[in-house]
Amino acid sequence: MRLLIDNARIWDGSGAAPFPGKVLVEDNRIAAVAPQAEALDASGAEKIDAGGKFLMPGMVEGHAHLSFVDTPRGTALGELPPEDHTLMTMDAGRKLLGAGFTSAVSGAAAKIRLDVVVRDAIEKGVVDGPRLLAASPELTVTGGLGDGRQLHLDSQSFGVAVDGPDEVRKMARLCLREGVDTIKLNISGDVGTESALSDVAVMTDAEVAAGVEAAHTIGRRVAAHARASVAVKRAVRHGVDIIYHCDFADEEALDLLEDAKDRIFTGPAFSLVVNRLESMRGDNTPAGRVLADRLKASYEASCRVHVEMRKRGIRVLVGGDYGFAANPQGGNARDLELFVQHFGFSPSEVLQAATRTGGEAMRRPDEIGLVKPGYLADLLLVDGDPLADVRVLQDNKRFAFIMKDGVRYVPCEGTPHVRRLH
Ligand SMILES: [Zn+2]
Repeated sequence: MRLLIDNARIWDGSGAAPFPGKVLVEDNRIAAVAPQAEALDASGAEKIDAGGKFLMPGMVEGHAHLSFVDTPRGTALGELPPEDHTLMTMDAGRKLLGAGFTSAVSGAAAKIRLDVVVRDAIEKGVVDGPRLLAASPELTVTGGLGDGRQLHLDSQSFGVAVDGPDEVRKMARLCLREGVDTIKLNISGDVGTESALSDVAVMTDAEVAAGVEAAHTIGRRVAAHARASVAVKRAVRHGVDIIYHCDFADEEALDLLEDAKDRIFTGPAFSLVVNRLESMRGDNTPAGRVLADRLKASYEASCRVHVEMRKRGIRVLVGGDYGFAANPQGGNARDLELFVQHFGFSPSEVLQAATRTGGEAMRRPDEIGLVKPGYLADLLLVDGDPLADVRVLQDNKRFAFIMKDGVRYVPCEGTPHVRRLH
């Protein structure tokens, strides 16, 4: 397959200004990129006239939960039978592709094999979706975020509770045996967890170290849920690779993150906080007010910390914890707007975070995230200028096509889904 995308306005993901040009795709890779005025041998190629539209790399979602299927409660995920849950996870993958994300780093799966089987089915071309790095469920401690069990019921939520380094190691090894790319550890609590709130670290040093050792021994990665400053520090010191949230990182934690900036990634997963706050407007119940106050504290802390991270050059991933009732799958491109609005990113900076930095987080910096010869043909042809207004990426009707691995998809009218062109 040879395809020439002619007469495009190419933004290549490096941060350089866009230029009029053309791109030759051969099979699943970019074969050549040239300014419009230069000749390019495209003999035998099918030709598309891009009509001056904006051509950019496919985006990378840095904190996906494809198996979090927009339920209001975490325990509803535990109640879903695996067969239903698998189909719903596939559906979320198709929505994410339809939102312009051609790759995704999972932030956790709701059951051990959900990300793994969907990743493999996408890779084989059996189902459509973004290239996925699969995660384990959230390994948490008893009473931590994701421990949805009730004493009188055999219930489960999105987390797996494990206590002590031996249990953490055993569960991590089990998830790794089942094929996950990433082990997820919930080091801090969260806004809605009574026994472990955001400002405490409930997973101990020994537990974190055990999880990291299990994954790193076989070359896989660890991601952490870390809102409390002490949790961020624990994650960095024990070698965690992706540190999510970091809301309450203090000066010392920021210094540690900066010192490790060539090794680690962070990701605020900010839209969950913003969208939950928006969805709670008018909720004047006592419980609602308590939750809103906690979310506001997270919101304010996250804004402060991420402005600082941007200045320090710490790699921040676009990715917003989509998959909750208040923050449903498919709305993922809103993250870009939030980075510009709240963290002081320029449109070019957030687009680079969503493309080039995303490719690094996919562990394929030489293949994903740039429009460059040799890279995978993951491309978005956009009717609009995201450098002037990143919000255009939230409207999937703006995608003339979404290309992943050289295959073109177009939005299905009035739905968040896409269909293959050939
Ligand atoms: Zn998450």
